[in-house]
Amino acid sequence: MGREEYVRAGGIASAAREAVRGMDLAGRTALEVCEGVEADIRRRGAECAFPVNVSINEVAAHYTAEPGDTLVIGESDTVKVDLGAHIGGYIADTAVTVNMDPDHEHIVRAAEEALEEAMSVVRAGAKTRDIGRAIHDVIKRHSCKPIANLTGHSLGQYTIHAGKSIPNTWALRSSSLGAGEAYACEPFVTTSSGLGYVQDGETRNIFALVSKKRTKDGAANEMLDHIWERFNMLPFARRWLDRWEPGEAARLLDTLVKSRAVHAYAVLVEAAGQRVAQAEHTFIAEDGGATVTTRA
Ligand code: MN
Ligand code: MN
Repeated sequence: MGREEYVRAGGIASAAREAVRGMDLAGRTALEVCEGVEADIRRRGAECAFPVNVSINEVAAHYTAEPGDTLVIGESDTVKVDLGAHIGGYIADTAVTVNMDPDHEHIVRAAEEALEEAMSVVRAGAKTRDIGRAIHDVIKRHSCKPIANLTGHSLGQYTIHAGKSIPNTWALRSSSLGAGEAYACEPFVTTSSGLGYVQDGETRNIFALVSKKRTKDGAANEMLDHIWERFNMLPFARRWLDRWEPGEAARLLDTLVKSRAVHAYAVLVEAAGQRVAQAEHTFIAEDGGATVTTRA
């Protein structure tokens, strides 16, 4: 069920990703990139499964632009653009690293080759720890390090993390890929000087509903209903709460975060401050192989 939607969402996400790959991002704001890619996904006929992430240099993941965000991409930055499209809740999750620093080209190549290697070994019944080892082996050959505490994940309808993980290194915990199940695989790579772990940064600008429990604030409850109707359990950005004036949106969202109805995701930063590259595909596991839905 949902296979056709997974494939269509994949085609749209793939086209949106390839449009970014060819872009000169230097001098653009993160806001421009987020809004541009999100508009592209919608124009191609899908909904956004989460706010476009534009994570720069040592920020590995989970940065999206705030309303009026003035953050500008530098001329020698390493920029991960991670985007999601969905049709009826069936998600395609994919990412590309746009790197403008020749000294970090090797981490980008390592991430891309590790992803390709993973796509060649995934199939129904494959052990996630073996996929992780295959990813790690490629990254080692490039004299780089994987980020050990970031993983790929199974997908479900309106669910980005459906329970199973695909590690980027050999792992004690392992499971098997199920036939017909959708997964995202996403090697994150840092330099040999990196610690190979990410930790939470200060900024939190991606949110998701965790419970529909009411607060004592009627206006916040209205926002809660709106979030459920518009985003279901999928992540969203403050930018998307455009029914409210930005200051009011921030206040109500803060109330929902404090009451634990909404979770605020922290940006994830490489623990030694080293740059990180990422590549990501979504695939459906099958007997003997996989359909990579986000392959261009
Ligand atoms: Mn992603
Ligand atoms: Mn993902």
